[in-house]
Amino acid sequence: MSDKNRDDELASDPSGEVGLDFIRADIHEARQQGARLRTRFPPEPNGFLHIGHAKAICLNFGVAEEFGGTCNLRFDDTNPERESVDYVNAIKEDVRWLGFDWEDRLFFASDYFEQLYRWAEQMIESGVAYVDSVAADEVGDLRGPWHEEGKESPYRNRPVDESLDLFRRMRAGEFEDGAHALRAKIDMTSGNMNLRDPIMYRIRHAHHHRTGDEWCIYPTYDWAHGQSDALEGISHSLCTLEFEDHRPLYEWFLDQLPLDEVEELPQGQQPKQIEFARLNLSYTMLSKRRLRELVEEGVVNGWDDPRMPTVAAYRRRGYTPESIRDFCHRCGITKRKTTVEIAQLEHCLREDLNRRARRYMAVLDPLKVVIENYPEDQTEEMDLVNNPEDESAGKRKVPFSRVLYIEREDFMMDPPKKFFRLAPGREVRLRNAYLITCREALLDENGEVAELRCTYDPATRGGSAPDGRRVKATLHWVSAEHSLPAEVRLYDRLFLEAFPDTLEDWKAAINPQALEVRENCRIEPALASAGEEPVQFERLGYFMRDPDSTPEKAVFNRAVALRDSWAKIDKQRQQKEQGAEKKRQKHKS
Ligand code: ATP
Ligand code: MG
Repeated sequence: MSDKNRDDELASDPSGEVGLDFIRADIHEARQQGARLRTRFPPEPNGFLHIGHAKAICLNFGVAEEFGGTCNLRFDDTNPERESVDYVNAIKEDVRWLGFDWEDRLFFASDYFEQLYRWAEQMIESGVAYVDSVAADEVGDLRGPWHEEGKESPYRNRPVDESLDLFRRMRAGEFEDGAHALRAKIDMTSGNMNLRDPIMYRIRHAHHHRTGDEWCIYPTYDWAHGQSDALEGISHSLCTLEFEDHRPLYEWFLDQLPLDEVEELPQGQQPKQIEFARLNLSYTMLSKRRLRELVEEGVVNGWDDPRMPTVAAYRRRGYTPESIRDFCHRCGITKRKTTVEIAQLEHCLREDLNRRARRYMAVLDPLKVVIENYPEDQTEEMDLVNNPEDESAGKRKVPFSRVLYIEREDFMMDPPKKFFRLAPGREVRLRNAYLITCREALLDENGEVAELRCTYDPATRGGSAPDGRRVKATLHWVSAEHSLPAEVRLYDRLFLEAFPDTLEDWKAAINPQALEVRENCRIEPALASAGEEPVQFERLGYFMRDPDSTPEKAVFNRAVALRDSWAKIDKQRQQKEQGAEKKRQKHKS
């Protein structure tokens, strides 16, 4: 997080104590008592990160920064069939892009496979784990429904030596997948299903992206996660509410282990698991498994398709890391399950980009305009401000000539009452150029408007009339000859329903119109060398150059539309003009 944001936080929170969420309050207290702070972000590399993960990243890395601790990046890579190095790399890129740094603290649960195995053997020896040999579906049946007591497996009390021997042979690869499993011996009657002899190891003859074929047994999430935390000396293990029921198991496992032998763990102090509510976003699906289905079924073009809620997709679409961090910060950390409006995320982006995005002109649906009284061979360079919010961004030259393009929807043959833009006989302003008047609309053979014949008033250069006459609209434009071709991709929500994750048939709620491609756009020439950063196309929104761009044709994604286009600018101009008018009147009298 930038220093600026932290200052803001301190300013609104001078005591440093008021307004801390329950996790920060806990950490604050621990720090005051001299405890150290170590968190981790533990993704499974089985897909790209989504915005929910961004919240967990901001929390884990955020508290480490705020309270003088450290945060590890640890891959929970215990399911080899679904994981890959590509996902590992994508996740690292996303965390870095969000602005966080794990320095030399990059870890993998697979680094601990040997240690986990040895601890498992010790647990067998001390009688709190056993090899079960009933079939996997039977294990489930014996567990029973939660409201009834489970039944013990016939193998539960097999001799320690037998379990140990079988477990070693499991590792040695003597058995088929599923022939045996290692289970913790806890309590088959527990009201908490997680304590009904949970599975610690499964046999899986699968190639692992890091350990190759070294292992054919793999630890379960529950067995690997807390132990990895302990091995890294994590003080606060922050996770989402689904894991609340796993906490007793998390603690039980740690209780079985010789934690004072763990170098990283001061005085064998167990990591503390604290749960918070996951982020849900309206009109958005935040489940890796389902997002993966969308990718695999070709509903979207990959994990970074800008319709997706992944960090990579937001980046491609033109979101900034600052806006996402700001959003996560504003959502806050609670225990209450809520769904945040997607408009809030868009708001954070607009606010950020309004401050820093450079303005350009682009026409998405070009309508040709010929200025009849403008000299054929003349070109003028109009001065346009790059960013009205940031004077240091300076100005740029935009070529103006006799043949221009304006937005088709800015013209109407028979305008209704409230339409103030161009129409036959009407005068409007071309942004920072001239006032023009439409003299005639030429139609094509289908009766569609093909071209406007207009005249300009040479005395209005810059966009205002010396006689003080006013026009009601300001249009963006590009010069036909100087502008460049572009494809522009406009996005809408990927789901038509606000809570797609609650629907049985969630795929039926996919918005088929979430992507609209405009192929024949024209953009001002300065955009040839811009767009690595998000930009504003005046009146249209914020856009980002897409990697699909070619030297012949730029491709831009719209990150978000502008809420109220030029309403504000026009109002300011009107006020300025009214002020000048008053001065003139005063001067006269
Ligand atoms: P999904 O539920 O989307 O499949 P996951 O929980 O399986 O995600 P992991 O890679 O295991 O994905 O998640 C890494 C971390 O991110 C976990 O600590 C998890 O609690 C957290 N996380 C996942 N989804 C969210 C969310 N929507 N909001 C906040 N944190 C989340
Ligand atoms: Mg998970």
